Amino acid sequence: MNVSTAISSLKSSGYKYTDKRKDILEFFDAKDGYIPAKRVLGYMQERYPGLSFDTVYRNLSLFAQLGILEASEWEGEKRFRLSCEGEHHHHMICLACGKTKHIEACPLEQMKLSTDDFNVTSHKFEIFGYCGACG
Ligand SMILES: [Zn+2]
Ligand SMILES: [Zn+2]
Ligand SMILES: [Zn+2]
Repeated sequence: MNVSTAISSLKSSGYKYTDKRKDILEFFDAKDGYIPAKRVLGYMQERYPGLSFDTVYRNLSLFAQLGILEASEWEGEKRFRLSCEGEHHHHMICLACGKTKHIEACPLEQMKLSTDDFNVTSHKFEIFGYCGACG
């Protein structure tokens, strides 16, 4: 997802496109991989002194709810990245820098799930470790 796709999905869901929201999206666009919510707050407070964590976090949650951002969590910190587009896939995630590598295979397809009395609507599968640069 890029900034302009994110903006149109924000608008088509009836949400205002504000400078703050634009700054958050551009921050993610310039980065690669998962970024802790706290780091987004730090960046935003440089531009908007006194901005609260609540305001930033509410926007991050809204973006995640609209599918603009993907959320994950490790070491007790909630982290976000711009959503990937294209075919369904999963990620290997670096615990140190948050960068992701695509896994094209989906483990769900390998499973012989019995869905007679269960309606599967979504699933999550993430592999954590360290990327080549972080060792
Ligand atoms: Zn991806
Ligand atoms: Zn790394
Ligand atoms: Zn899958």
